[in-house]
Amino acid sequence: MSSQEFKQAPHKLLVIPGPIEVSDDVLLANAHPSMSHVSPDFVPVLGDCIRMMKTLLFAPDAQPVITAGSGTLGWDHVAANVIEPGQDALVLNSGYFGDSFAECLTTYGAKVDQVKAPIGSKPSLQEVEKALQSKKYKVVTFTHVDTSTGVLSDAKGLGELVKRVSPESILVLDGVCSVASEEIRMAEWGIDVVLTASQKGLGCPPGLMVLAASPKAIKSFESRKTPPNSYYASWAKWIPVMKAYEAGTGAYFGTPPTNLLYALHQSLTNITTKSPSIEDRFKQHIAASDRVKNFVKELGLEQLVADGIKDGAHGMTAVKYPQGIKATDLLPKMVARNIVVAAGLHKEVKDTYFRIGHMGVTVTHEKERGDIEHLLKSLKEALTEAGYKA
Ligand SMILES: *Cc1c(COP(=O)(O)O)cnc(C)c1O
Repeated sequence: MSSQEFKQAPHKLLVIPGPIEVSDDVLLANAHPSMSHVSPDFVPVLGDCIRMMKTLLFAPDAQPVITAGSGTLGWDHVAANVIEPGQDALVLNSGYFGDSFAECLTTYGAKVDQVKAPIGSKPSLQEVEKALQSKKYKVVTFTHVDTSTGVLSDAKGLGELVKRVSPESILVLDGVCSVASEEIRMAEWGIDVVLTASQKGLGCPPGLMVLAASPKAIKSFESRKTPPNSYYASWAKWIPVMKAYEAGTGAYFGTPPTNLLYALHQSLTNITTKSPSIEDRFKQHIAASDRVKNFVKELGLEQLVADGIKDGAHGMTAVKYPQGIKATDLLPKMVARNIVVAAGLHKEVKDTYFRIGHMGVTVTHEKERGDIEHLLKSLKEALTEAGYKA
């Protein structure tokens, strides 16, 4: 079947912060016949994915690692490979996912300090600088977009700060909710590890962990005194495999999810070689985000991030329910309009807000699809039906 002939079944519009809507060509790529993971036909599929990730992250010298798993596995990779038991890690915590990353690092024996920001904001560069001056941290992590609140971290600013104040530290960007919807210039900004997953901005079905490590991160890994303290997440196992695929030969450590890699290949081909360009893609996400954020503001609703246009993510928006309206008043009315938005996630406030995802084809193909138009119109109708008067 050609991609012109294939159309996915009619379904509710999925506008949560991941998984996101997947385009027909990506879904069709996933339906590829079963393949040997070391066959000459398959080897370049993973090889190209590795090359295209470097393009997307503006990181020509980085070493990507792509395996079965989800974004969470990226934390395990960091905890098991770039820090050793007993070493210090600093977690810049801007919400739910900072708590989890800290827990993961602790599980592998790292000693974790955190700089925690109030809900809806992020640690300031001044606070981070103070923490960096207090101790030598092996690893510094931050959540680029905290999916529980929609706050956007200053990746470029943090890169500059770490380079200036703590140049030995490995700076890790959790990009599960930002890769392909926010600009990330890994090499230029001095980011050492970017980790993500297939089902958010990358626009694929869930099931892949995708990361990229800078030459500095690799060097730090190679100079470990102790072996990696994970088996499945060991870079000693995976990096030779990734290098082999990139060089055009198969290698084996754990069967790669071949079908998902066909899907990722299609999606990365769309992102890195088709319209819009990577740069325009980020501009489109900013424009779509501004549109959603201005719309909810005009309706009289507040966001978890006080000034969403200035400090918020561009691939999602976290919106507070108006006085007197709860999740059960609004979300079913959205579902009745064939739209799935997400409930709150931050444990301290989860019943007070909902989340809208605006990433991937929903943003880049608004002209043909009209997803955002449909979403905003439906939100207004659903609120009115729930008794809200703007
Ligand atoms: C979704 C998400 C994760 C976890 O990814 P999974 O694919 O669900 O394991 C981690 N960090 C952030 C910022 C996320 O949005």
